Parts: sequence; structure tokens; C-alpha cells
Amino acid sequence: MRIVIDEDKCTGCAFCLFECPLPNKGIKMVKGKAKVKNDCEGCGKCIAVCTAGAILLE
Ligand code: SF4
Ligand code: SF4
Repeated sequence: MRIVIDEDKCTGCAFCLFECPLPNKGIKMVKGKAKVKNDCEGCGKCIAVCTAGAILLE
């Protein structure tokens, strides 16, 4: 499983970044939008904190 971020919905709140349990984080912020990094393990924890519904599991 991997996550996909809908940039049109992303508000740039960075809640997903803080929620990610990985030391190196599976998400980074680029120009106010969340981007998935190769480090992401697809655990899906960030999905629950995205109130914008911008993170989907694929
Ligand atoms: S939690 Fe959702 S809206 Fe907030 S930065 Fe992450 S993807 Fe964007
Ligand atoms: S799916 Fe899991 S590992 Fe990937 S960014 Fe979200 S919380 Fe981090």
C-alpha cells in the first residue's frame, strides 16, 4: 500500500507530517503542500489526521 496526496485538497496544515511515526518522516512539505517521500511505509496513520481528506491509500 502507498499513499497519494491530492494537492488540490491539501491545505498545508502539516498535521500529517507531525503524525508520521517514522524518524525521517514519510512526508515533506514543499511550497505549502505535502509530498510523499520514498521513506513512506504506507502505514496510513497520517490519513486519520488529514481533515481535508487529501490523503488516499492506493
Ligand atoms: S494533513 Fe492533509 S491537508 Fe494537512 S498538510 Fe497533510 S495532506 Fe495536506
Ligand atoms: S503512510 Fe505512514 S509512513 Fe507514510 S507518511 Fe503516512 S504516517 Fe508516515
